[in-house]
Amino acid sequence: MRPDGLGWREDADCLALAGGKICALGRAAEMAAWRGPGTEMIDLAGGYLTPGLVDGHAHPIQGHDLQIGLDLAEVRDMGQLRAALAQAASALPPDAWLQGHGLDPSLLAQAGHPADELEAAAGGRPVFLLFFDYHGAMVSRAALARAGITGPRGFASGADILCDAAGRPTGTLLETEAVELVRAVLPRLEQAARLASMRALFERMADAGLTGMHVMDANGDSLDCFAALEAQAKLPLRFHILPWVNPGATRAELEAVLALQSRAGRLWRVCGAKFFIDGTIDAGTAWLHEPDTQGGSTGPHWPSPEAYSEAVRFFGERGVHTATHAIGDKAVRHVLDTLASLPPPIRAAARHRVEHIETLPDEDVGRFASLQVLPSMQPSHAVRYASADLSDPWSQRLGPVRAARGWRTADIAATGVPLVLGSDWPIAPYDAREILACAVARRLPGRALAPVGAEQTLSRAAALAGLTRHTAYVVQEETRLGAVLPGYDADLTGFSVDPLNAGVDELGTAPFRLTVSDGQVTHRLAK
Ligand SMILES: [Zn+2]
Repeated sequence: MRPDGLGWREDADCLALAGGKICALGRAAEMAAWRGPGTEMIDLAGGYLTPGLVDGHAHPIQGHDLQIGLDLAEVRDMGQLRAALAQAASALPPDAWLQGHGLDPSLLAQAGHPADELEAAAGGRPVFLLFFDYHGAMVSRAALARAGITGPRGFASGADILCDAAGRPTGTLLETEAVELVRAVLPRLEQAARLASMRALFERMADAGLTGMHVMDANGDSLDCFAALEAQAKLPLRFHILPWVNPGATRAELEAVLALQSRAGRLWRVCGAKFFIDGTIDAGTAWLHEPDTQGGSTGPHWPSPEAYSEAVRFFGERGVHTATHAIGDKAVRHVLDTLASLPPPIRAAARHRVEHIETLPDEDVGRFASLQVLPSMQPSHAVRYASADLSDPWSQRLGPVRAARGWRTADIAATGVPLVLGSDWPIAPYDAREILACAVARRLPGRALAPVGAEQTLSRAAALAGLTRHTAYVVQEETRLGAVLPGYDADLTGFSVDPLNAGVDELGTAPFRLTVSDGQVTHRLAK
């Protein structure tokens, strides 16, 4: 590997593969001896080959199942929402579910009783609308009735059914446990059709440059889906899967997640435990040192932060990787303190990571490097869900000081710790070009908007490492993935523009020439 550790030879445009492994690489003229019946040659004349791009944080199965119905990402006020629902309802039978996703939670401020508003807009049909951050939903009266929700309930995880003064549910459900009450009664796609639709999704992910994904949940029948898809035909991507440990998990629940660590197929593997220590800034459910400007985001998701620390220790002592969703500054501090409390040999026996890290004070920036705890961040969230002028709900909730400490990718990378990058799809698009463009320019490609946190841009090499070498390292696969070297698994992405030198708009929009996963071509640009 080169001293700067990019893990590929920029001048190589020809590879010899066998048995899913890289045998040799170089200029086409040097490679003649490798041509033969036992090898497959990949000639990328004119393209740019890098290690396969891996999204370090995504929810492919859950995201597939959640993105049903209307896309409400462009809806800006209740008037637009009512119009969109009325139009969609007019094409449905009278008692059919009306589903949507991508809803902006700040619309709640405009809707007193969403359940009644949705009921009226949809002509009495049951309505289920997920927030864009998937940390809540708005549902209609009929939907509440079908799910048997009649009033408040206590949830250990911090989930909530919002109710009015009379105890009547308003139609707003916060966090998974509450949302799942309604999801459980939604109509389901027939399994063969669902699996086919998942495979088509994975193929689109390969077209978008990806050869792998770190799956941050094993919810529902996810593992059975990976197994069933792989039994049908080879998977288009490689999946590393970290099942959830729910807030307040009992010892038996920890043991159950531990037992899942043995589940694997050829291209999918359970390899860690995913925690949540808080929620989101926008929903007021994050954990901040000081409350947000509306008095929210004051506590952790775990009923007891000490119990969280104990649960992380349980996995650390057994050599199991952990990942913890920590968005607020206090949440990040608690995760780092927890990992700092592990004896160093135990901490070093697995790779521990912190997901999101949305606002971070100076004093914690260097702790990832000193503890060798891996930060995992989503540059496209900074660009899509915050704005340079701080007028967006995320910035308003945090106020100017904490918003200015948002998504500090450059500051953290400068400390030398491997920074993992991803999308958290379906929260943001999985397209690797968007992740790269947002990482290197803090703006979406092809749009002339001001960069968000312009001082946090990464070099192109650092952004590429975040999707290649570092995604391999964080799952302890750095001796076989994340580089284009002889003996490594043949997971490769071929750019049609030079990823180290192309302009950001070009980098963010040029189609990928090729993707190869486990030696199998999963995308090839039509000539
Ligand atoms: Zn996630």
